[in-house]
Amino acid sequence: MGSLVPSSTEPFSDGAVFGIFTGWKSIYEKIRRSFNDLNVVIVGAGPIGLSSAILALQTGRVSKLVIFEERQRKELVNLSYQISFDENSVNFLQSSKIDFDNIEGCWHEGCFSTRVGVYLEYIFDRLQAYRNSTVLFNTKFDRDKCKEIDNLPGRLLVLTCDGRNGQAGRILGLNDFSQQHSCGAYGAIAAVDRTEQRDVPTPEKRMHNLTFDLSAYGTYCTDNDGFPGFSLKIFGNSKHRFISLAIARCDSPVVKTLRTILDRSMMRNIFLKCFNQYKVESEPAISDSYALHHMKFSPRLFEIKLSQRCETVAYFDDCDTFVLAEGEAAMSFNFHTGLDINPAIRGLMSLSTFIEMISIAETEHSITEALIYKMKHTDSVCKELIKHGMKEYMFS
Ligand SMILES: Cc1cc2nc3c(=O)[nH]c(=O)nc-3n(C[C@H](O)[C@H](O)[C@H](O)COP(=O)(O)OP(=O)(O)OC[C@H]3O[C@@H](n4cnc5c(N)ncnc54)[C@H](O)[C@@H]3O)c2cc1C
Repeated sequence: MGSLVPSSTEPFSDGAVFGIFTGWKSIYEKIRRSFNDLNVVIVGAGPIGLSSAILALQTGRVSKLVIFEERQRKELVNLSYQISFDENSVNFLQSSKIDFDNIEGCWHEGCFSTRVGVYLEYIFDRLQAYRNSTVLFNTKFDRDKCKEIDNLPGRLLVLTCDGRNGQAGRILGLNDFSQQHSCGAYGAIAAVDRTEQRDVPTPEKRMHNLTFDLSAYGTYCTDNDGFPGFSLKIFGNSKHRFISLAIARCDSPVVKTLRTILDRSMMRNIFLKCFNQYKVESEPAISDSYALHHMKFSPRLFEIKLSQRCETVAYFDDCDTFVLAEGEAAMSFNFHTGLDINPAIRGLMSLSTFIEMISIAETEHSITEALIYKMKHTDSVCKELIKHGMKEYMFS
């Protein structure tokens, strides 16, 4: 791709400066725009790529939409881990005609949990109603594909939704530098895969103000330590269970010990005891020997951070192409909260307006306005997450 009209090398700030715009619009371009002729390419048929596809098609501004997905359809619809949509995400997607009552899953306090493969299959079926959309399975987006789409006529929007390790944004010219923001908390996670169990959607369990007796490790905790206590969350489906422990940043002796002493048996015991004490009643407890052989876990507490891609949207005037990163390709925690899909859904809340804006944008000013609108929204989602994310997902 050719020259970039830079969004900014830093996360958006009001003072961000845009580069020189050199676009020239022919009469043909103006006529084409009046017919809303916007082509959309999406890289990645994960939950965010597919949700974006539905949102884009519903704007009525898209003439053709193509999704590149490197995996096979069968592999995707069989993905068995659970995703949980919080109330905000459910309301937003319902307003975009995603019918959760027709998706197999379970409801718990306004959250909807389902197998990721079930959600993907539902959207694949919905996409069939749109004759102008195609999913290319088993097709990796790489530099050759980038050249192919470069030759598409008319205005193009490429959405990179290829997950946290995705390379498409970089191939397309987005700077892949990310900024790490501290969430003011420490955490540790554990995972247990129980192959003998079926994939049954299971509500999460949260507990708060937990403390651990680490006197065997020479650490004593008194009431005067100002120790806020740990929050615990058990989530995932019956087959893939996750345990997350988090605590607001503090200097208590217990936190210091768990941050600095690398003792796998200490962490394993904490996770094992937490799970067996607070698990859903109907599920089996984990034995010491099972935990020893099958439990994967963080060996100590680490700082919880949000990684924010600095450049998530750009416009290339020589090929009239917008590139936009969404989902975990744009932002992600280094900590599993069990509500990981929701930051990405929040990012999508500005997608339809952005598409409306770019499908009619003619001038340098209107294109810049669209870029600023999208950048501001992504930045506000990140700021909200840094400020309230842990509270919402773990501490309340
Ligand atoms: C084991 C596990 C457990 C999880 N548990 C939960 C949970 O309990 N609750 C919850 O809310 N969330 C959970 N999540 C997180 C949730 O799945 C993610 O937040 C969500 O999948 C992110 O969606 P995405 O579409 O941004 O990325 P992804 O789901 O990663 O999708 C990216 C897609 O892009 C494709 N792709 C990548 N590169 C290319 C390329 N070059 N060309 C073509 N295709 C490409 C990939 O094959 C993939 O299908 C879990 C995730 C994992 C891995």
